[in-house]
Amino acid sequence: MSQQVRTRFAPSPTGYLHIGGLRTALYCYLFTRKVGGAFLLRIEDTDRKRYVPEAEDYFIRALEWCGIQCDEGVHVGGDYGPYRQSDRKELYQKYVQQLVDTEKAYYAFDTPEELEAMREAAKQQGNHNIKYDAKTRLQMRNSLTLPEEEVQQLLNDGAPYVIRIKIEPNQEVTVNDLVRGLVTINSNEIDDKVMLKSDGMPTYHLANIVDDHSMKITHVIRGEEWLPSTPLHVLLYRAFGWEDTMPQFAHLPLILKPEGKGKLSKRDGDRLGFPVFPIAWTEEGADQPSKGFREMGFFSEAFVNFLAFLGWNPGTEQEIFTMEELTDAFTIERISKSGAKFDFNKAKWFNEQYLKNKSDAELTEAALAYAPEKLEELQICKEYVNGVWGLMKERVTFPSDIWTKAAYLFAKPDTYDAKVVRKKWKEERIPLFEDLKKRLAALDDFSSTNVETSIKAFIEETGLGFGNVLQVFRVMLAGTTKGPSVFDMAALLGKEEVVERMERGAKIFDEMNALLA
Ligand code: GLU
Repeated sequence: MSQQVRTRFAPSPTGYLHIGGLRTALYCYLFTRKVGGAFLLRIEDTDRKRYVPEAEDYFIRALEWCGIQCDEGVHVGGDYGPYRQSDRKELYQKYVQQLVDTEKAYYAFDTPEELEAMREAAKQQGNHNIKYDAKTRLQMRNSLTLPEEEVQQLLNDGAPYVIRIKIEPNQEVTVNDLVRGLVTINSNEIDDKVMLKSDGMPTYHLANIVDDHSMKITHVIRGEEWLPSTPLHVLLYRAFGWEDTMPQFAHLPLILKPEGKGKLSKRDGDRLGFPVFPIAWTEEGADQPSKGFREMGFFSEAFVNFLAFLGWNPGTEQEIFTMEELTDAFTIERISKSGAKFDFNKAKWFNEQYLKNKSDAELTEAALAYAPEKLEELQICKEYVNGVWGLMKERVTFPSDIWTKAAYLFAKPDTYDAKVVRKKWKEERIPLFEDLKKRLAALDDFSSTNVETSIKAFIEETGLGFGNVLQVFRVMLAGTTKGPSVFDMAALLGKEEVVERMERGAKIFDEMNALLA
């Protein structure tokens, strides 16, 4: 029987989750779900200097919002825990000791000043790329150069030390990346990286490998920025004797700035007015949280759909995918090698597609959170807002948009299109519009069809022409020439309101023209 697929999302709690990180989680999740494997959340919190306590909870909430469910992890437990690296210190110490005992790693006692002096001396001789490696390690203060008794003495005295991996020179290291193909480098390019820091904490490299091994991870799916570290990871698997069960690697392309060059950053979002994180996040020292996609009014399904397409495509024309459909369609082979340009308009397009398919009631609930005033103050009820959705669904991007784009459906217009008034509100036509108002006021059933029939009959009888009547009527109701069907709009506003708006409009149109005269 083949081995169960196990993947992990392993963010470091140093701040908010950039959408690139979330995309990594999504791809991992889709890949794993498709084959019925286990997806876990591991918190890589070994860098205590950059540790941000709120970040872990933020990751969990962001994943939940997107509907990415973890089978194991800090918040749900599991058989391979603990899932927070700071709770696994002993394990790393045990394994790093194993490396020392098998002479794959060694103690290094060099002080920061000594390391600096080594770099300085090399620079003097024109070598700017000096590394702690096979060429230099024998000139340094470590357990390879010091007599055994001295090493023991230093350890007994509690002298500060780090443990470094001993990279053998001139080895070919090949990584068969599932996205990029074969990547080969020579071990001469890798330095004797620190595995255990002087504070007793493991480095990312050690903890990551020990955890992936002990959590039986089969596939490491992560951002491209980790590709350069992967040969070192391969050497670490070798040093531990774990090469046979080494996971497969897939490195995801970068998410690029909208202009196409360079990695998308929070600054690009600030500069161009879009979020780069899924849900709101309060930066240290800031008094206001920065909005995420959720707070901007994105539906999580639309956001996930958009995210899935940032670096992957199904190879067909289909663009709208539910999470289930994404799971079925997703393959690592269809992840692109080149960076994916972030396109906020495309994100909005996805939201519009999902918005159109929501029920009026659902949209009303979503819009209420953004209402400028309470419904009672606006003198409307939820059913009325449902009716607004019936008219506006095809015309907005976010649920909150109705309060601005259809403000005239909630209150009488503030302004009226001056061009229409100047051109079409003619002295001789004023009595005719008075007549139209009376006809509408006389309708028993103020349905859209009845309003339409009545207005069309009026146009025919008066010979005024469609444009002359409908534009004026629309501006009376809405102030503007744009918007949904004017008959539907009238029916929604109701007879009384339409009559009031016609009277108010006529009065203001007169005043506007008087000013021009
Ligand atoms: N902690 C690393 C990060 O923050 C994880 C990289 C990996 O998946 O190996 O991205």
